[in-house]
Amino acid sequence: MVDEARKEVGRSRLEPTLLTVTAVMRVSPRMARVRLTGGPLVALPQDCAGAHIKLFFARAGQRVPCLPELGPNGLVWPGADARPITRTYSIRRFDAAAPAVEVDFVLHGDDGPASAWAARAAPGDVIGFAGPGGPYPLLAATNDVLLAGDMSALPAISALLESLPASATGRAFIEIPHADDRQSLVYEADVPITWLVSDTLPGALDTALIRAVRADVAPVGSAAWVAGENATVLALRDHLLRVRGYDRRCIYTVPYWKAAAAEEHYHGERHRVMDAFNAAD
Ligand SMILES: Cc1cc2nc3c(=O)[nH]c(=O)nc-3n(C[C@H](O)[C@H](O)[C@H](O)COP(=O)(O)OP(=O)(O)OC[C@H]3O[C@@H](n4cnc5c(N)ncnc54)[C@H](O)[C@@H]3O)c2cc1C
Repeated sequence: MVDEARKEVGRSRLEPTLLTVTAVMRVSPRMARVRLTGGPLVALPQDCAGAHIKLFFARAGQRVPCLPELGPNGLVWPGADARPITRTYSIRRFDAAAPAVEVDFVLHGDDGPASAWAARAAPGDVIGFAGPGGPYPLLAATNDVLLAGDMSALPAISALLESLPASATGRAFIEIPHADDRQSLVYEADVPITWLVSDTLPGALDTALIRAVRADVAPVGSAAWVAGENATVLALRDHLLRVRGYDRRCIYTVPYWKAAAAEEHYHGERHRVMDAFNAAD
């Protein structure tokens, strides 16, 4: 999905560690912001906002998740009955002085363990954390950038917009489930946001986001960044490459989740999709 130099965050990562919730707030009706603290966070790179992280949730009957440990050949996981529920999220904000990270969770219902956890999170709760990972820098270039995503990508897009220099130009398209999930973002770059309210079911092939990006006729820019539901991301990736003629090395397109599939069932498919894209380079 990204060129070789940007495939991984070439910086130190934290081994799996336990963090404690210190604050929770509703950013909008369907987005919870959870602030997490723990001593090891001092080692995070200053500019890690927007980067991918792994979160480990306790299983039923556990108060604290049982974390994998770093062995000589990678992570060593606890046995199946103790293995934590693992999900990927983005760092919305890093407060190095505290140190603390803020993570924004889409509240999409209690059928998702991560969403259910975030909806009930309270100070004192404990969660596992590892990372950061993902491309570094998050965006290949800053001129005429195209950013597009649904609410799951809003934390990373927000962090990206806040990190861009005032000289950066482009446009952003963000699809939210309801109008009251729109957020007020403050940043210097000349990248106006078009907010779109969903009018299709998740997984549709004609989402408001797909229609808006297809209707966008601004000249092809230096970089495109797209994340969100699987079908939308794949449709937009195809559009950017085949219709708009973007250079595949300058686009980042990652399906974050798939309608009607929990992460355990979708994880492998996401990696196959991404590997096939990279193999086509
Ligand atoms: C690199 C990366 C970064 C990500 N960053 C963030 C982030 O910062 N914030 C964030 O909220 N999400 C983020 N996601 C998406 C998140 O990992 C998934 O939404 C994940 O499936 C949520 O886990 P869950 O336990 O709540 O639901 P699951 O158990 O995985 O799924 C249960 C059901 O909920 C549905 N579902 C899952 N996610 C959503 C959603 N967003 N909206 C509607 N229905 C959904 C599934 O289709 C399934 O039917 C990121 C994903 C990736 C790969």
